[in-house]
Amino acid sequence: MRLAEGVYKVDGVRAANVYLVAIDDGLLLVDTGMPGNAKRIVAFTESIGRQAADLRYIVLTHCDIDHTGSVARLKELTGAKVAIHELDGPILAGEQRPQKGGPAMVAFSRLLRPRPVAPDLLLKDGDTIGGLRVVHVPGHTAGSLVLCREDGVVFSGDALLGDKHGQVRWPNPRLALDRVQAQASAERIKALPIKLLCPGHGAPVHI
Ligand SMILES: [Zn+2]
Repeated sequence: MRLAEGVYKVDGVRAANVYLVAIDDGLLLVDTGMPGNAKRIVAFTESIGRQAADLRYIVLTHCDIDHTGSVARLKELTGAKVAIHELDGPILAGEQRPQKGGPAMVAFSRLLRPRPVAPDLLLKDGDTIGGLRVVHVPGHTAGSLVLCREDGVVFSGDALLGDKHGQVRWPNPRLALDRVQAQASAERIKALPIKLLCPGHGAPVHI
């Protein structure tokens, strides 16, 4: 689905949202969904008249499996560089255990056996990737980030959400690694000059 000039939500990916963004030298993908979505994402890329090889960057808003699940396969299929915040990078790489979640979450993640991926790029607050500015919004995970395009398109991951009616939804504090930080980060995002919020869950929000 086309959301704005050069911004698409990849159709058919359940659980978490995946976005494709046109950048100067190709395409940038925001998140990858659960394991098993790589081919669907490539097919969507082709459906808008582009090719898998046009994908330059896969930026992960944070290290949770519903966002990183298809990154290993997608990297193989496209050759894109994988980017994540420096604090969540070691978890993606399998060098550090996920810091949050009870035994159920840990068991669930093990069951899905995500393949570790060594990130190509480690991001921090204030960096730019594919023309998008990185804002570090810790709380949901230590290395949660949002991406901001100059015209007010903001990709917020799980740091600020949408509901199914296109309204802003505050993140559930119980799912946060640090709920005080998560609240402060959500407020920081809300204060950005947003025209279109593209959240990790729920419908995109036109503001
Ligand atoms: Zn999520």
